[in-house]
Amino acid sequence: MIETDICIVGAGPGGVATALRLSYLGIPSVLIDRATFPRDKVCGDAISGKVTTLLNRLDPEIMGRFHGQPIQTDVWGVRFVSPNQKKVDIPFHPGYVRNEKAAPGYVCKRLEFDQFLIQEVERRPDIQFFPNTEINKFEKNEQGYSISNADGSFQVQCKLLIDSSGAHSSFSRKQAGLEKDWNHHAGAVRAYYQNVKDIPQDNFIELHFLKEITPGYFWIFALPNGQTNVGIGMRSDFIRKRKINLRQTMENIIANNPEIAPRFKNAEQLSDITGYGLPLGSKTRKLSGDNYLLVGDAGHLIDPLTGEGIGNAFYSGFIAAELAQQCLEKNDFSDNFLKAYNVRIQRVLGSEMKLSYKMQEIGRNPFLLNLVANIIVGNQKILNYFSAMYSDFDLREELVRPWFWLKMWLKR
Ligand SMILES: Cc1cc2nc3c(=O)[nH]c(=O)nc-3n(C[C@H](O)[C@H](O)[C@H](O)COP(=O)(O)OP(=O)(O)OC[C@H]3O[C@@H](n4cnc5c(N)ncnc54)[C@H](O)[C@@H]3O)c2cc1C
Repeated sequence: MIETDICIVGAGPGGVATALRLSYLGIPSVLIDRATFPRDKVCGDAISGKVTTLLNRLDPEIMGRFHGQPIQTDVWGVRFVSPNQKKVDIPFHPGYVRNEKAAPGYVCKRLEFDQFLIQEVERRPDIQFFPNTEINKFEKNEQGYSISNADGSFQVQCKLLIDSSGAHSSFSRKQAGLEKDWNHHAGAVRAYYQNVKDIPQDNFIELHFLKEITPGYFWIFALPNGQTNVGIGMRSDFIRKRKINLRQTMENIIANNPEIAPRFKNAEQLSDITGYGLPLGSKTRKLSGDNYLLVGDAGHLIDPLTGEGIGNAFYSGFIAAELAQQCLEKNDFSDNFLKAYNVRIQRVLGSEMKLSYKMQEIGRNPFLLNLVANIIVGNQKILNYFSAMYSDFDLREELVRPWFWLKMWLKR
């Protein structure tokens, strides 16, 4: 039996961010994962500026080590393609300079990115890491939680349990009561390809809003060595209502869409098309209780518009670690004390999530998407404005106001 103050179950980005933040605060933890690393995770593999900002906040040398490995492509912006096939390229920074050293975003296979994060964990002697260990039993007791594997040969007693075991977390569902809500959930599939043609300059990630998959999109993200991560994602209630088979829909788009199919003519599919769930953060939920916190996908924190979850897993991990520090100082792990976690999550991620949800609702209408693309396309002034929105939340809020679009239309 291992005794520890803080135990983290799940060593994906959320769990690792929690353990690293604790470690940099001088607080030891136990980190457990059922997988043997390196392990894959079905994902689009896009790593946003949120992740790099937080890694830099821990220690700028971490990003130095990341850049030292040839596992990522540098990404400088996003290409949106509307249902009427208008292409809108929006750089992450207005007037960016391509040869800047640190790109604002990356694409990196999760097999490699998560392994990189595990290497960072292994550099920290105060994180006790147990891979290849699946936790099946969670028992609440007076001291906190006692957890164990199926045959009881591995047991941990902790004061604070941090569950970061992902979208299919049984703790989140059974103990914390976070039920799946199809209106706030998405399904997505992806596969790796070699030699997809016409990758945009500077590896802009491509989001194709196609009529048959709204609200959702088809993506192509460029990886190193001529590979790409290709997939589609869509809100689950629509998948169910329209009885959509995502895998077949993706194959159909690649084979028949007049804009996309020619780009795959000489491409080789490198992996099966595989899927996984995305619990979206568009519904506010309680992410804490006596002696526990939920981090990342276990807390349903994926951005409802973009499907980005790694950055939010990182943010929630940092917030959880910082609150854990206060729990230890006050020796208070009660539900009441841990409620502060929900307040902080809402403060940091809440407004962004609500805005993304509103935008997702607008994106359900292909007519509106086409109208927006018609307004933006070819207008440098508006494009600059849009670039500034990535980092300026107040500007981004304008996007859901009709008068903003009227103003943009008149400015054309
Ligand atoms: C198709 C698809 C595309 C996506 N694209 C993107 C993207 O491009 N960019 C982006 O930011 N996000 C994307 N996401 C979302 C992103 O993958 C998740 O938000 C992110 O992985 C969340 O990290 P996490 O640490 O919370 O969970 P995970 O990464 O799922 O990690 C959970 C960990 O817990 C472990 N675990 C599970 N159960 C147990 C157990 N019982 N005992 C011990 N360990 C356990 C697992 O082995 C795993 O290592 C995508 C998701 C999907 C499905």
